[in-house]
Amino acid sequence: MADYMSMDNLRFILHEMLDVSQLCELERHKDYDKESFDILLDSAKTYADKVMFPTLKEMDEAPAHYKDGKVIVHPVVGQVMRDAGENGSIGSTFDYEVGGMQLPNTIAVGVAHISSAANNSIGGYAGLTSGAAHLIINFGSQDLIETYTPKMMKGEWAGTMCLTEPQAGSSLSDITTSATPVGDGSYRIKGQKIFISGGDHEHCDNFIHLVLARIDGAPAGTKGISLFVVPKKRISGDDLESNDVLTAGDFQKMGQKGYCTTHLVFGEQDDCKGWLVGPQNKGLKCMFQMMNGARIDVGVTAASVATAAYYASLQYAKERPQGRRILANGVKNAEAEQTTLINHPDIRRMLLLQRAITEGALALLLQASLYHDLSEAGPEEDREKYHDLLELLTPMAKTYPSEMGRTSINAGLQIFGGYGFCTEFPLEQYYRDIRIMSLYEGTTGIQSLDLLGRKVTMKHGAAMKHLTLEVIETIKAASNYDDLKVYAGQLKNASKDLEATLMHLLKFAMEGDHERYIADATVFMDYMSTIAIGWQWLKMATVAKTALVTGNMKRSEGFYENKIHTMRFFFKYELPKIYSLAETLKHPESLTILEENKTVLA
Ligand SMILES: Cc1cc2nc3c(=O)[nH]c(=O)nc-3n(C[C@H](O)[C@H](O)[C@H](O)COP(=O)(O)OP(=O)(O)OC[C@H]3O[C@@H](n4cnc5c(N)ncnc54)[C@H](O)[C@@H]3O)c2cc1C
Repeated sequence: MADYMSMDNLRFILHEMLDVSQLCELERHKDYDKESFDILLDSAKTYADKVMFPTLKEMDEAPAHYKDGKVIVHPVVGQVMRDAGENGSIGSTFDYEVGGMQLPNTIAVGVAHISSAANNSIGGYAGLTSGAAHLIINFGSQDLIETYTPKMMKGEWAGTMCLTEPQAGSSLSDITTSATPVGDGSYRIKGQKIFISGGDHEHCDNFIHLVLARIDGAPAGTKGISLFVVPKKRISGDDLESNDVLTAGDFQKMGQKGYCTTHLVFGEQDDCKGWLVGPQNKGLKCMFQMMNGARIDVGVTAASVATAAYYASLQYAKERPQGRRILANGVKNAEAEQTTLINHPDIRRMLLLQRAITEGALALLLQASLYHDLSEAGPEEDREKYHDLLELLTPMAKTYPSEMGRTSINAGLQIFGGYGFCTEFPLEQYYRDIRIMSLYEGTTGIQSLDLLGRKVTMKHGAAMKHLTLEVIETIKAASNYDDLKVYAGQLKNASKDLEATLMHLLKFAMEGDHERYIADATVFMDYMSTIAIGWQWLKMATVAKTALVTGNMKRSEGFYENKIHTMRFFFKYELPKIYSLAETLKHPESLTILEENKTVLA
């Protein structure tokens, strides 16, 4: 079987860089140890090899579709939901008392990396079910928890998140789905939701939709949005009966074709019941819990698809003979045997780019997940700090893999030459599959507005201060090694540049020119996330260097040397890009803001 991810790299990040076993010291995770984490990761890999990877192409070639009122998906979806229910992975991070396993999020994300690299069309079915059940557990009544979550955690019932409407995508303040109190504690739900992932198919008995809607008379905007549990079928004695949720269609897409994307109509017959989750008009706040988790999930999926593409490109580059190396005297010996692609510097550049992006992205995602765990179960006095760090990293952890993962797959496709464009090779599918990542769960534009408009300034810049201290720690550790000092210096300069650029932009906000402040938020995202990935690379290189110097190596010497080499690549080819981005961000002209009486974009 072809390689699609590296267990060695995953273990390096989890154990050697993040020391994830530190979590086993905490009360919440005390039943785990390094060995049990490794057993879980190994069994996830065995399962992904056997069940998920072999169906990747099949799901692309036989897409989910709508036929005679039903959504047809590949049967493996049913198998994975049942298996996930049986092995406990849907509720793996939940508390013991609700039937969960109290597994750290960091390990769950490691497992998700393995399965998404194997097949990115399947994981979302169980992932959304997990997110929806978690939301009910955290904000729902005891009755709702008992009615819905046990079957969701068993994989018998599926969960979804229903935010988007035809007229309300990024701007949720415009949703119009209505909720009218019936008088028995339930609400009559009416409206349409589009693009609902995993919204219907034949392999689960019921679909538990977490729906954002507006209670009659609620204030306009996001302050009037509430959250409801709306099952496709409601419980009637021992049976299930229709709850007037109609599936009107399944969107046909350019990628991730095995993951159905449904159009749902609630209450066409005025007989759709929903139950409030959390307080009235606080639905968006509750939903953010699921959205934040889903943003990390999307980042992981993006990093994983790009990782699978890297390994496919690497294998191809090793096998494909093409051309000859240029000899030291500058000539090619036409009579010599062809060399393989991997020996050409430009191919090596593209492979290193893929590696630098994918491993850097994975490190950032696992770092964010560790902060997540520490924010929930770490020492009481540090929880807020870790929560702030998670909040700050989340938009970057979603966006960098989604955007740069695409760049990375593009480089991989180039390595395949013409074959990269053809369906018998996997790169064209990965290229199509990853495209959705920068669109759903908040587009790149929206994530960037969140990063610059909210996260860097929240709590008077507290999260930025925490992050700066973390970066300083990394710089200090790297500076202990002579041959890493130069890179430590580069990250220090980048960090100073970030501070200066941010100060420059903040002046606009302080002067009340918010549109100018935020106008280049997406450029800022590119800029800051490149620095964040530089931070992760220096961290990885320092750990690798320590292993080489102390001889305490858990992997081959080559593994650690390659880590350092890839860090050097990132610092030569990627990190310097921040200075041109900074120039753009600080440029006095503002060319994108709409001006009265000017029709530049006619
Ligand atoms: C395959 C797929 C699966 C999905 N799954 C789900 C799901 O399970 N549940 C769910 O609720 N939704 C789901 N969605 C919907 C998805 O989250 C939305 O498509 C996304 O939020 C963007 O909304 P939109 O498509 O209406 O685009 P728009 O909001 O119209 O955005 C179009 C463009 O304008 C930009 N833009 C919008 N507002 C601003 C602004 N104020 N400032 C600057 N730029 C702006 C955006 O960044 C984007 O580039 C899914 C979508 C797809 C395609």
